[in-house]
Amino acid sequence: MPRLYFDQAATTPLDPRVAAAIRTAAQEFVGNPSSLHTDGRAARSAVEHARAQVAALINAAPEEIVFTASGTETDNFALFGAVAELAPSGVRLVTSAIEHPAVHETCRHLGRQGATVDSLPVDSEGVVQPEFLADALATPAQLVSAMEANNIVGAIEPIQELSTIARERSALFHTDAVQAAGHIPIDVRTTPIDLLSLSAHKLNGPKGIGALYVRSGVAMHPVVHGGGQERGLRSATENVAGIVGFGMAAEIAKAEMAHDAARLVTLRDHLIDGVLARIPGAYLLGPRYRRLPGHVCLAFAGHEGEAIKLLLALDEAGVAVSTGSACSASHRSQPSHVLRAMGFDPFRARGALRATLGRFNTAAEVDQFLQLLPPLVSSLGSITTLRTSPSNER
Ligand code: PLP
Repeated sequence: MPRLYFDQAATTPLDPRVAAAIRTAAQEFVGNPSSLHTDGRAARSAVEHARAQVAALINAAPEEIVFTASGTETDNFALFGAVAELAPSGVRLVTSAIEHPAVHETCRHLGRQGATVDSLPVDSEGVVQPEFLADALATPAQLVSAMEANNIVGAIEPIQELSTIARERSALFHTDAVQAAGHIPIDVRTTPIDLLSLSAHKLNGPKGIGALYVRSGVAMHPVVHGGGQERGLRSATENVAGIVGFGMAAEIAKAEMAHDAARLVTLRDHLIDGVLARIPGAYLLGPRYRRLPGHVCLAFAGHEGEAIKLLLALDEAGVAVSTGSACSASHRSQPSHVLRAMGFDPFRARGALRATLGRFNTAAEVDQFLQLLPPLVSSLGSITTLRTSPSNER
């Protein structure tokens, strides 16, 4: 049986059309985009074409897009760059309790540098309710960072409302849209977002290329100093082939989003309903409907400490899933900060099984998964040592 790749929130396979564009660009564009000769200008025009394609995905202007080397770098750039402009010390930053480490570790660092960092709670489905932000902004803050959609539980956050509240209170609004972009519509003209993070590998583009949207007129401090590329905000010779691939991935995602999302919602709901019907004690994490199109996050009552065991059993059976964030796979015994924020105790907060679908998954694959999973769950020991081991109760 060919392997089932159900870990699309960790990363997506390259779309063959993107792969072809990257191959051509890598061979064709020999010049440095900053060079004045014909070869340099050809590379420059490929970069600018891709910038327009990425901008179009979120309805931004091309000059509002700054290319970076990843979603993580983009989040760091957004927060460090904005804080450095706002006030080197004494800034108040409000973020949510469920952010990706690229945001929450950066916020912690800013806190150590003197910023006041306050964290917004979430409800039991992982949603930042707008009133949580309105309450937090009763005390003035200069910057708010809240993600567009959560990577662990798939919740789509109320970004229109949150960004509107931030704008009304004169705070800059950053959103990490790494999981959302290309999967749900985003329009920075109708939503008062000032800074928005993107990463190509979550939308069937290449790994190691990201972008920050900076609303026209928002002042940013550079985080990478050097030759002045990317409007002086992010120096380095551009990754031309990666940028071309990102552009192509963004254009395809924009053109095919409605079709892909409708298909994925059907597959996702079939998977959720199938698991809930077949496995006693199975429950869904995150909202039932207001979730990313291909995103499923499940737990199994009484087996929450055994998510890694289940992941490994599925892997052996030929299925790639995740227990949460790929970025935290090495912190095996750590409960998920997202599930903790949703009110799970430290034991249950280790128990998520994330199965995420993408452009190339099929209904037949979901049916195979539904056959494979129930016997694996029932073969798990009822309670593992994880539950009783004090060292794992942190
Ligand atoms: N933000 C979110 C919500 C993510 O899910 C990820 C990746 O998992 C990142 C940021 C980091 O992006 P990258 O892998 O491109 O560094």
